[in-house]
Amino acid sequence: MAKKSTTSKLLKQGKKMAKKNPKGFLVVIIVLIVLAAIAAAGFLAFRNARPNVSFTLIGPKETSIALNSTYKERGTKAMYNGKDVTERVVTTYYLGDAKVNAITTEEEATFTVKYKLDFQKYSGELERKVKVTALEAIDINFLELGNKYTGDSTFIKAGSTDILIDAGSRQSSASTIASFVDTYCEDGILEYVIATHAHQDHIEGFTSTNTNPGIFDRYKIDTLIDFALSNNEGKALHTKYCEKRDAKVASGDIAHHYTAADCIAGTNGAKKTYEIAAGITMEILDQKFYREKSSDENDYSVCAMFTQGDNHYLFTGDLEEKGEASLVELNNLPQVELFKGGHHGSYTANTDTLLNVIKPKTVCICCCAGSDEYTKNPDNMFPAQLAVNRIGKWTDKVYVTTVATDDEKGYKSMNGNIKFRCDDGINYVVTGSNNSTILKDTEWFKNNRTWPSN
Ligand SMILES: [Zn+2]
Repeated sequence: MAKKSTTSKLLKQGKKMAKKNPKGFLVVIIVLIVLAAIAAAGFLAFRNARPNVSFTLIGPKETSIALNSTYKERGTKAMYNGKDVTERVVTTYYLGDAKVNAITTEEEATFTVKYKLDFQKYSGELERKVKVTALEAIDINFLELGNKYTGDSTFIKAGSTDILIDAGSRQSSASTIASFVDTYCEDGILEYVIATHAHQDHIEGFTSTNTNPGIFDRYKIDTLIDFALSNNEGKALHTKYCEKRDAKVASGDIAHHYTAADCIAGTNGAKKTYEIAAGITMEILDQKFYREKSSDENDYSVCAMFTQGDNHYLFTGDLEEKGEASLVELNNLPQVELFKGGHHGSYTANTDTLLNVIKPKTVCICCCAGSDEYTKNPDNMFPAQLAVNRIGKWTDKVYVTTVATDDEKGYKSMNGNIKFRCDDGINYVVTGSNNSTILKDTEWFKNNRTWPSN
C-alpha cells in the first residue's frame, strides 16, 4: 500500500512539474531512460559473463610423421592460467588435407587441429595450424672394426642418405667397414662423412695401402666435414690423411670439404645444419676447440646432433672434460634418446656437466672392453668404472661393441655391431649382431665392474 501511495505522489508531482516546466520534465525523462538502458545493459552483461577463462595451446606448430603412418597429435598442452588442463580437452580433430593422415610423399602439408575443451562452465574450441612433414627412418650402426683395437666408426642410413662418422681403428678396418657399408650403400657415394679428430683410431681407415684401399679410395663423398685443428700436423698419419683428402677434393671425388669451424661460421659454403632426409637433420654443434688450441687432441672432436622428429642423437667423438663443458655452454642441448658414449667410455669424458643436460636414454660405446691398450689400471679400461657410475645415473640401456679376450686374436664381439633403429621419430629398437644384452647383464661386467647403487 505504501509503495502504491508513494508512486501516486510521484505521479502527481510529475504532472505538476510537467505543467510548470515542460522542457525540464523532458530532460529528466530522457536522463532516466538513458540510466535505465545502462543498468539493463550492465545486468545483461553480468548475466552472460563466463568465468574468466583464457586457454592457450603450447606445443609444436611443426611436426613430422613417419611415411605412411597415421598422424597423431602429440606434445601439445592446453593451459589455463599457467595450469596444464590438457586432460580437459574432450576432443581433438583435424581438418584440411586428408592426406596428412597417411603421408606418402616427402611433401609438406598444412592443416588445422581443433581442440574442444570442457573446463568449469566454459566449453569451446581452440584451433591452430600445424605444418606436417614426412619423416623417414634412421638406422645408426656402431661398427666392430675387425681387430682388437678400440676405435670408432659409425654408419648411419637416414632415408636413402649414407653417412659415415670416422673410420677407425686401424687401416685394415677399412675393408671391415666397407663390407658393412656396402650392404646399405648401393651407388658408391657417401653423402656425408665426418672425421672427428686426427687420431689413428678415428681416421686411419680413410687412408689406403697398396693392398687395402681406404674409405677415401672406395667411395665418392659428397660432403666431408673434418676437424678444424690438430696438434699432429707434420706427423705421418696426419699428413697421409690430408694428402689423400686433398687429392680427392682436387679430383672431385670429394665434392665439398669443410671443417667444423666452417660449419659454425658459415664460411666456404658450409652450413651448420643439413637436411639429410625427410624430417631428419644433422647439426654440427659448436665447441670452442674448433677455434682454440688444446693440449688434448681429443678436444678438437667434431660434434654432431641428429634430430628425427622429436628425437635427438648425439655424437661427440672423443671430446674430453673441457670440450664437453664448452659444448654445454655454447649449445642449447636437449635431452637425447641416444648418446654415443664419449671417448670410448673413458672416465675423462662422460662428465656430469654433459650428462646432466642430455640425460641420455640409450648409450652406445665403441671400444674393446677391458683391453689394456691405453692403461694398466683395470678400473680405467674402457668402459671405465667412473664413466659407468655417471652414465648409470641416467640409464642402464648401455651397449658395447667388442670385448677383449686372452687368446691370440685378442677380441670378440660383446654386442657386436650395434644397430639403433627408429622408424617414426619416437620409438626405437637397439639390437646387437651378436646379442642385445645390456652392459650390466654381461659376464664381462659382472666380473669387472659394479653398477652404481643410486
Ligand atoms: Zn678414439
